[in-house]
Amino acid sequence: MDGLTLTVLGCGTTAIDYNKGCPGFLLKAGRKNILLETGSGTLYRLARTGMSIDKINTVCYSHHHPDHTSDLLALLHSLKWDPCLKKRHLKIIGPPKVLDLYRQLILYYGDSISPDNRRFKVNLEPASDNQINEGGILIECKRVSHTTDSVGYRFNYKGKTFAYSGDAGLDENLISIAKKSDLLLCECSFPDNRKFRGHLSPGDVESLIVSSGPKKVLLTHIYPGWSKEEKEGLQRLTSRGVSIAEDFVTLAI
Ligand SMILES: [Zn+2]
Ligand SMILES: [Zn+2]
Repeated sequence: MDGLTLTVLGCGTTAIDYNKGCPGFLLKAGRKNILLETGSGTLYRLARTGMSIDKINTVCYSHHHPDHTSDLLALLHSLKWDPCLKKRHLKIIGPPKVLDLYRQLILYYGDSISPDNRRFKVNLEPASDNQINEGGILIECKRVSHTTDSVGYRFNYKGKTFAYSGDAGLDENLISIAKKSDLLLCECSFPDNRKFRGHLSPGDVESLIVSSGPKKVLLTHIYPGWSKEEKEGLQRLTSRGVSIAEDFVTLAI
């Protein structure tokens, strides 16, 4: 397919849940395959979709928290040693702490995972408030309020726009990432009566939708343990056409 498609590999959180993997998403743009986040279990879920890791061109990270990055180690180890892989070239895009995590892993594990820059190559590209042209895909990165260097992403490809909040609180940058996007993949961690700094609640998502006018909204990163009353906030959103992500669902954007 020559458009943008999104496959949810993990719509979960830090909570260990068989049905909701830690954050991981596959974005296909023409022939390019981009992984967004590699939380624990993302690579196994990717394998279940039939895609081998040597088909992944780029990994984009929103921030360094383990629920979003745990499988980076497994990815590097597998790229280096799986004899069946045909291609071992990877670009990693992420904020400074993610790139630092990569460098620390290389320091700690040494030859077990380090690229040899011939057969196995890794390029790093910082994401902050910048734009990256990734083989015809314009990736806009913007700082969002979560960790000190978290970013949200806006992918533009052939007239379509896909926006991803990462983990984020509501602010002007998040609104500009989401602005009139064709699909907004948006976190909604906690209910309105248990709001947590650096995360969104259903009320925040409603404000975000009003301010940014995305065409479609898919909620992810919803922590477990909401009471019946707390879930009414989510029901308010779904009654207005917002969808809730499920692992292994694929959407054309
Ligand atoms: Zn998270
Ligand atoms: Zn986080």
